[in-house]
Amino acid sequence: MGKERAIEIRIPNNLTFEKQILSEIFIRIGYPFAFVQSFTSIHAAKIAYAVNDDVADIFIKKMDDDWKNISFPSTTKIENTWLVYLPGKKPTTLIKKKTLDFDIVGMGYFFLSGKAMELEKKNLHIFIELCKYPLFDIACDSLKKIIITSTDYARLYSNTPSLWPNNAKLAVVISHDIDHIVMGGISKVRYIFSNNRNNFQNIKKKIVKIMMELYNYGPKNSYAKIDRCIEIEKCADIRSTFFVYAGEPAFPFNPLYLLDDIILWKNKRVHLFKVLYGIEKEGWEIGLHGSICASQEENYLQDEYNNIVRRLPNINLMSIRHHRLSFDYEKTWDLHKKRGFLIDSTIGCNRINGFAAGTAFPFTVLDNDNNTDKLLEVPVIVQDIVVNRYIRKHYNSCVPLIKDICEVINNSGGGVLTQIWHIERMSGRSGNKMLTCFKDVLSYLAGLHVWFATLSQVREAWLEKKKELIISNE
Ligand SMILES: [Zn+2]
Repeated sequence: MGKERAIEIRIPNNLTFEKQILSEIFIRIGYPFAFVQSFTSIHAAKIAYAVNDDVADIFIKKMDDDWKNISFPSTTKIENTWLVYLPGKKPTTLIKKKTLDFDIVGMGYFFLSGKAMELEKKNLHIFIELCKYPLFDIACDSLKKIIITSTDYARLYSNTPSLWPNNAKLAVVISHDIDHIVMGGISKVRYIFSNNRNNFQNIKKKIVKIMMELYNYGPKNSYAKIDRCIEIEKCADIRSTFFVYAGEPAFPFNPLYLLDDIILWKNKRVHLFKVLYGIEKEGWEIGLHGSICASQEENYLQDEYNNIVRRLPNINLMSIRHHRLSFDYEKTWDLHKKRGFLIDSTIGCNRINGFAAGTAFPFTVLDNDNNTDKLLEVPVIVQDIVVNRYIRKHYNSCVPLIKDICEVINNSGGGVLTQIWHIERMSGRSGNKMLTCFKDVLSYLAGLHVWFATLSQVREAWLEKKKELIISNE
């Protein structure tokens, strides 16, 4: 792709924040682009942002600052495209006299700032509705169509570079959160006693539950089946990311285990950290499964980081995902940047499979200091919690569910299908069913033209993509 022809975006130099959002929009459009102060003579298309320019093919309105304070946006469908808009400022058409008639940058801000995640606490119903489609990607895809039809440069699009390696439109990331390693383990009993010292009723209830688990599953089946999971992935020649907990087990709602605890690994009793160390050597990736507290407070995140580095000193710890997808848009990403994480994969919905960030693409977390490429978000799209509900209803396979979501992603320009498969759900009574389901999904996806990748491979490919598409005008 020659540097001489690019989509040129004329934008005032001081709008660095909006430049970041426009970058994300034009990366989704997938054609080389450059930010300019005035149009050159060898552009592929001329876009003016927040400046009046009669020469421009399309004018994009300046972002409405109200997006920064909004808590409930509205949605509407115009010309077959779902749009998110500020209440009271409803667009009537997508494009009016060369002007994009909706605030695509404002909408991008709403999703890429993580603000949409706040809706889960404020209005679950709206949040679930927003998650059903990758609304931001759909809007970008519409803009792409508008560019093609309203400029003379449509022919250039036949040359659009491919999104992922191997010419794939869809990348697939498999990841596992480790929430329990032993269903009724001795360490669990220890924590229950130390945390409920004065609450005998609570201790009794929990111990009975553990006894029931042991009785139902038998001691061997009560261990998380990391080995089975690795075996399946090895057979399919896939590598995944294991998010492991390293925090204080005593806190309510957080996982109850330590890296020093013992699991059953190929019929031998082995320390969890040794298993992780071994699989990392074979190409699997280890990320931190941050506690709920660590998504809000620096000292917790620091402690958990220290714990994992102490036990696994030589691993390449790049990624993080918080337990229960705990996220605060004003704090969590800043803490990650400060601690040096390069990939976050916390944005997602616990209720349905879908697009909590309005996108199936990775994106660089917006940065006030214009310190870009510091942290990449790779949103979660599919969770086994949702899959489980589905297979309980439909008994056999969950492949139709995955097929639907692949279609949605492919229809809105492609992206990454990031999946969470909890290790403990592959153990216990319904574990075998889940393992079969996992195998089914992998073989279905292997039959499509997809690129299986780990989180760090996605990051590498994405940065490469940005380098290819963003043409520097210096
Ligand atoms: Zn978890």
